[in-house]
Order: sequence, then structure tokens, then C-alpha cells
Amino acid sequence: MTADTNRPLLQVDQAARHFNIRPVAGSPGGLLRAVDGVSLDLNAGETLGVVGESGCGKSTLARLVVGLLPPSSGQIRLQGGDLWERGAVGVERRRQCQMVFQNPAGSMNPRRTVGASVVEPLQARGVKRTEDIMVHMLERVGLPAQFAGRMPHQLSGGQQQRASIARALIARPALVVHDEAIASLDISLQAQILNLLVELQEELGTAYLFISHDLAAVQAISHRVVVMYLGEVVETASASDFADRPQHPYSIALRNATLTPDPQVERQRSETVLSGDVPSPINPPSGCRFRTRCPMAQAVCAEQRPVLRQVGLGHSVACHLVTAVSARQEATC
Ligand code: SF4
Repeated sequence: MTADTNRPLLQVDQAARHFNIRPVAGSPGGLLRAVDGVSLDLNAGETLGVVGESGCGKSTLARLVVGLLPPSSGQIRLQGGDLWERGAVGVERRRQCQMVFQNPAGSMNPRRTVGASVVEPLQARGVKRTEDIMVHMLERVGLPAQFAGRMPHQLSGGQQQRASIARALIARPALVVHDEAIASLDISLQAQILNLLVELQEELGTAYLFISHDLAAVQAISHRVVVMYLGEVVETASASDFADRPQHPYSIALRNATLTPDPQVERQRSETVLSGDVPSPINPPSGCRFRTRCPMAQAVCAEQRPVLRQVGLGHSVACHLVTAVSARQEATC
């Protein structure tokens, strides 16, 4: 497949994924809007971080982007072409998108050796001589060659995640989606895996969609950040702009929930904190979906759905009061 260098590598255009939920014991069921009109793009070799709480639709978005789920509406394009194009072209596009899951043991066949799992993407492309490529890839992610003969359960959690990364990258895909890929690891291992991902990206030029509830991890690895709430994008910005000046009340609350070792930054925090749970995506609030938890909500927020508006270069926010939010932030800093 020839890359179209004039377009972003990945273009998600108003993608939605809805599920019909049947009523069960006391729950009425209905249409679950897991992803509801998301648009974003990602350039070759770039990392786009997607952050939000559990239940915000991040994992469904991950599955849409790697072709594990078709969208209910909207379109996902890779290298300018529809990810779901019929025939061999569509299959090849979906092969260009690999995924690293939160639970590495679950993504490898427990009855096959680590080496046999790692080479699967190569074999799917008809590559016959896989041994040298596999050994090189294992060593590149920090695993000795002899680990190829071990079973997944004989590896630690960190080693399993390194093997998952080797499997995702071995066939040189254009894009890897990391869905909470470091969430099950302890803090020191998380830092090691993030550093490894950055090194591999510099070496291979692979684009990453890095999906996490952990804002600190997202900011550490991403060039740009997207914030999702209840199936929608509420803010998108460069990582540096977002770190300095998040503007949506939800983004500010997420930042305030993230501890920082810098006491000066701690003192400068605004008072916006996150309370309550994410409402049901089966029956989301009218207007702004964040209004039931937003300390700045006003009457208009229940009546009109805010759309993303540009507030700076590459920085967009979906909030009726975005100017007021900015002013309040400045007053508290
Ligand atoms: Fe809060 Fe209203 Fe902005 Fe929604 S639109 S984030 S409820 S101020």
C-alpha cells in the first residue's frame, strides 16, 4: 500500500459506535452510545494520547481504530483509504494497525510459546523465515532470545508486556494502539515501558494512539492530547499547550486529580475537582454531557450541546463558557 504523504496517517471522521443493550433485572436497557461522533487525526510517527475516565469510550475507540469493531456511523481512514474497504485492500489496511492490550497474558495464546505468538503477524503476511526477525525483535524490547521458547505464564507481567510490544511491532505496522498498556504494571516498570516505546518510535517511525486514564503517562509520551468524556471529544491540544493551559472544566479536574512532585505546581492548583461518577452512556445528560459534574454549569449547558471551538493553534475545546474557564484559571494561578 502506498502512503499518501499529504494526508494524516489516521483520520477518524465523526465515528460513532452504539450498542443495543437488552433490559435485564431492573435495568431498562437501551442504546449505549460508547463512541458518539468522534473526529481526530494522527500523523505518521506521531503519538496522540487519549485520556479520560473509565466508561468514556476510550477502549471502544481503540477497537474501532484497529478494525476489531466497525463504526455504526462515520468513517475511519488509514493512509487516505477506508479501513473497512472490501477485499484484500481493507485487510491490508487493518493489518497496518496493531494493538497492545492492558492484559498482555490475555492477548497471547496460553498454549503457544512466546516466540510462536510474537511471529503471528509475520506469518499472517506469508513471511516464511521468521526466526532471525523474531530474535532481533525480542532483544530489541529487552527480552533474551531464549524467552522465545517459554510459555506466557512463565514470564512476569513486565516481560509479557514487552513480548506484546514485540508482537505488535514485528511486522512494522504504520500504527500501534496502546489501550491502557501500562495500567497493570508498577510505577518503575511503567517508566521503563514508556521509555522503550519512545525509543522504538524513534527507530521505526511507528505512530501510536496511546489510550489511558493516567494523564501523567499520556502527557509523558504524547505529542498531542485528546480528552474524551462520555463518548465525545471535549478538548484537543498539543501536549505542551495542554500541560500549561487545559481549558475544559473536565480536563482541569483531571489535571487536578493528578499528583505532581512539584510543590509550587501543587500550590497553584485551581479548586476544580472531579466528584461523582460518569453518567450512563445509555441515557447521557442533555446539552453538555459533563454538566452533572461541572462546577461551572449554567442553564445553557442543559439546553445546548457545546461543539469543539478553536481557542488557539491546534487547541480546541467544547464548552459554552470556555473564555470564562480561561479567565478563572488565570485568576487562580
Ligand atoms: Fe461545564 Fe457548561 Fe462548559 Fe459543560 S458547557 S463543561 S457544563 S461550563
